[in-house]
Amino acid sequence: MKLLQDKVVLITGASRGIGKSIAEVCVAQGAKVAFTYLSSEEKAKALEAELAKNGGEVKGFKSDAAKFDDAQKLVDDVVAAFGTIDVLVNNAGITRDNLLMRMTEEQWDEVINTNLKSAFNLTKAVQRPMLKAKAGSIINISSVVGVSGNAGQANYAASKAGLIGFTKSVAQELGSRNIRANAIAPGFIETEMTDVLDPKVVEQWRSSIPLKRGGKPEDVANLVVFLGSDMSAYVTGQTINVCGGMLM
Ligand code: NAP
Repeated sequence: MKLLQDKVVLITGASRGIGKSIAEVCVAQGAKVAFTYLSSEEKAKALEAELAKNGGEVKGFKSDAAKFDDAQKLVDDVVAAFGTIDVLVNNAGITRDNLLMRMTEEQWDEVINTNLKSAFNLTKAVQRPMLKAKAGSIINISSVVGVSGNAGQANYAASKAGLIGFTKSVAQELGSRNIRANAIAPGFIETEMTDVLDPKVVEQWRSSIPLKRGGKPEDVANLVVFLGSDMSAYVTGQTINVCGGMLM
């Protein structure tokens, strides 16, 4: 029996990077997957086709996670297509790094809306199907930076710290309804988001990590499988680092 057999998993921002890997690993574990993207239409279609080839039930939706009304419509569309939503993965995220001195209001708002408000939008929208099913698992992709802070990332760190507080509150509010909420705090995971970094900085990071490598998107996806499955039935309100020991 696969760990997510027949569960419906909704993942935001899965056209590339960590979200894409979450979609792949969830399908391999028997899940039906609905995923979103914002602009990468071609990559989204390619992912749909790749996963369908191996018999996966997968559908991509263009939907802006930062927009409240988009989230409501998305959840209605996913429920119409798949019947319910068992697992929500709030993964969509962006960086707009800058020192506070130079950070614009737009850079602050874009990051907070995409990384934090999105989780509010989607979590509110999935409440109805999850309450009806008397079950659900909500997984928020935070960051170690949300725990430790990081110079040049005040907007990003605030959004990721906010996700942790949001997760704990949702876990407390919805626990009695058998709806769980947990946060994952990835460390340095090598994706397009980190491709833009100076190679020298990347090398320094790798050597300072106890496991001596950057993480792979699958390292995060494997924890999503555990938190989405019934194996984690008694785990809620937690923030789990996937960081090779970078933050202890
Ligand atoms: P990525 O490669 O840049 O991919 C980001 C994904 O989010 C893309 O699929 C993108 O869709 C989607 N997206 C962006 N804005 C969106 C919006 N408004 N609505 C819907 N989708 C949107 O990033 P990643 O490295 O995989 O990161 C995924 C998550 O992990 C993020 O929340 C990030 O903060 C977190 N994280 C990453 C690392 C790391 O080291 N990589 C570490 C800690 C935490 P389009 O392709 O259509 O733009």
